[in-house]
Amino acid sequence: MHTPFAPATLNELHRRLERRHHSARQMAAHCRHEADLALQDPDVSDLLDRDDPASGTDADRGNSLALAALAEHNAEAAHTALRRLDLGNYGYCDDCGARIPLARLRALPETTLCVDCKQTNHQLALVG
Ligand SMILES: [Zn+2]
Repeated sequence: MHTPFAPATLNELHRRLERRHHSARQMAAHCRHEADLALQDPDVSDLLDRDDPASGTDADRGNSLALAALAEHNAEAAHTALRRLDLGNYGYCDDCGARIPLARLRALPETTLCVDCKQTNHQLALVG
């Protein structure tokens, strides 16, 4: 299976993916750092308000860790897409094998599904 894109387009998508991979990793590192800070340095509002379980560092830490996990997921998705670009099977839907339109790849270069399959997956997820 060969990628359906011209070399210039592949270069463009490659650059986009590398940028997204890089910024997602930076975001993940930043959020991990914030989570560590929340663990080590209880801030003043937490000390003043320690009876309220929803306030303070545990909630901050949870938010930071959730953001870090999301960023790590995005970084992994971008990395997987870069590997597919290198292997030459980038730009095809994982489910149905259809070519994913270039406009969709430009907007979301790490996607592995066409719009139809994405919507089907989403509906299945909603049903359970
Ligand atoms: Zn599909």
